[in-house]
Amino acid sequence: MSHSYKNIFENNKKWIETRLGEDADFFNRLAEGQSPEYLYIGCSDSRATAEELMGLKPGEVFVHRNIANVVNTLDMSSTAVIEYAVSHLKVKHIIVCGHYGCGGVKAAMTPQNLGLLNPWLRNIRDVYRLHQTELDAIEDEEARYNRLIELNVQEQAINVIKMACVQERYAEEEYPIVHGWVFDLKTGRLKDLEIDFEKILKDIQKIYNLTETNWNMSLNSNRNLLDTP
Ligand SMILES: [Zn+2]
Repeated sequence: MSHSYKNIFENNKKWIETRLGEDADFFNRLAEGQSPEYLYIGCSDSRATAEELMGLKPGEVFVHRNIANVVNTLDMSSTAVIEYAVSHLKVKHIIVCGHYGCGGVKAAMTPQNLGLLNPWLRNIRDVYRLHQTELDAIEDEEARYNRLIELNVQEQAINVIKMACVQERYAEEEYPIVHGWVFDLKTGRLKDLEIDFEKILKDIQKIYNLTETNWNMSLNSNRNLLDTP
């Protein structure tokens, strides 16, 4: 299979034919520009795709993937993606999506020196420390691992909410809304962790508010304010 990469170009030809068969104008529209409604932040794991598992087409989702779907304020790659998606593309939903069976989270659960991966995995080790009481109370290792995957999604979603561009646009437009999901490799199902976005905003306001707005006021009264002449 040393030349298997050549299959990719064959696949590409077939893909073009399929697309044009469905819609002769497909590539003309694709080249015109993008206005996706979603930003998807997921794991680089080859099994946890973005578009395919959501049934979305090219142009419908802006994507950022890294090991264990981490959002860190010092990582220019993820923060630049979020800034661009929120301030320029005006996405309506930001999805942080982890997956059960995540190797990055598994490595972070194992205290050992992994070289260059150490600072990256520290983000997840910190999630463990934040939730250590809950996690250590789970006796079954598999269940504890799954819970850390969910809590990592939750904490990375909170890291998105800490960003000024997200707070400012939400205070003005009530978008974007941040979601936390987990993809189950064994069943193919997407699970919505039903993160209470507005509650998190209110809870973290005292420490992380980077806007001039009192969110508690604006969140509840935006619509009324807009309706008032
Ligand atoms: Zn992963």
